[in-house]
Amino acid sequence: MVIVGAGEAGARAAFALREQGYDGPVALIGDEEHLPYERPPLSKEALAFEGVPIPKTIADAARLNAADIKCITRTTARGIDTAAKVVHLSDGKSIGYDKLLLATGAMPRCVAFPGEAEHHCVTLRRFEDIARLRKHFQPGAAIAIIGGGFIGLELAASAVKRGARVTVIEVQQRILGRGVPEEIARAVESRHRAAGVEFACGTRIAAIEDRDNQAVVRLASGQRITADLVVVGVGAVPCTALAEAAGLELSNGVAVDSMLRTSDASIFAAGDCCSFPLPIYDNRRVRLEAWRNAQDHGALAARNMLGANEEISSIPWFWSDQYELTLQVAGLIDQGHSTIRRELSVDAFLQFHLDETGRLVAACGIGPGNAVARDIRIAEMLIAKRARPRLADLSASDFKLKSLLAA
Ligand code: FAD
Repeated sequence: MVIVGAGEAGARAAFALREQGYDGPVALIGDEEHLPYERPPLSKEALAFEGVPIPKTIADAARLNAADIKCITRTTARGIDTAAKVVHLSDGKSIGYDKLLLATGAMPRCVAFPGEAEHHCVTLRRFEDIARLRKHFQPGAAIAIIGGGFIGLELAASAVKRGARVTVIEVQQRILGRGVPEEIARAVESRHRAAGVEFACGTRIAAIEDRDNQAVVRLASGQRITADLVVVGVGAVPCTALAEAAGLELSNGVAVDSMLRTSDASIFAAGDCCSFPLPIYDNRRVRLEAWRNAQDHGALAARNMLGANEEISSIPWFWSDQYELTLQVAGLIDQGHSTIRRELSVDAFLQFHLDETGRLVAACGIGPGNAVARDIRIAEMLIAKRARPRLADLSASDFKLKSLLAA
């Protein structure tokens, strides 16, 4: 069993192979210098942390050894010979497989802005990337963040916590346009504004210019924003080069079926790098960039590499931490036709999304700490059950959502 990509999905798959009782060789190949580590802290704790940050490992050397997983770091898989069932590596070696898993993740979308200040711009995906961010996230520093998505906003909150001044620039009319309802995005924005973050929405970047060791971001609206550092967070693109060169079918990532099989019967794909049909939404093809999805995929891919033939059954779920607030989304918001709000407390609420038939298809909530966690979990189970709850029950704060599960 060979796994390319030693990130969230790849590491989970390697351990799941062992949990399933597989006792043959398992190789986990990663091009980063570190053993598998968690990415979510990179935009959160790793930036606020006072000491020297270290990656939060998913599995250390002792755990990998105990499970007899051969983790090969600093090594890129360069090519796959699908006929010979061999992966060619950057160190000149090759490794044969019976089953291969591609868990190559995604990389930040790069946009070339006019101007000559590219050296002021950074993106965030890897542990190495946080050094430059930490250097500039200082009291008084000016940070411009291009992109009002989850990563941009988490970075804004982290920069503000460290005393920097932040402007978020978003080409759409509002932040969090992808996957979060407007009411919740408004609550997020007002929390950022209360912390001093400024927003420039609905405007393009005309150029980013260099001036006295700073960047000047010129907006199409005429506004100019001077910054010590420009962080570009405009989405991610799946890492598909290996799959493409091997002739595997692509569709917004490596295309897999509901059992995570690629167009080659011996090769599977999991996590951010692949798009897959979601049975719960009539097999709509999606690609998710979410921590739990990568974990679920890793475990499912491992079972199917061993012949389980199990279909994807999990519901998309995502969380984001900004300041004291946690936002959670279960399901796909854009499957919804109508919404209903449920108040949990003065600073926490949920929004349920129902399709034309009244079926619950998604839920999104925001509040301090764990305020929305339990109800989102219940919503997730209701979505999985294809439940059609009464609107009055969903909106009544004193109605116990859990009782709907028994119905
Ligand atoms: P990755 O974790 O990216 O792992 C892929 C690995 O494969 C990488 O190490 C890559 O370098 C390696 N690789 C690629 N090509 C090759 C090759 N040819 N040879 C060898 N190795 C290769 N999700 C949430 O739900 N909530 C959050 O709050 C959240 N915060 C996040 C914050 C940040 C800054 C980032 C970047 C992501 C965040 N996510 C969050 C998303 C979550 O971390 C990802 O969905 C998850 O890491 C995806 O796992 P993966 O295994 O598919 O990809």
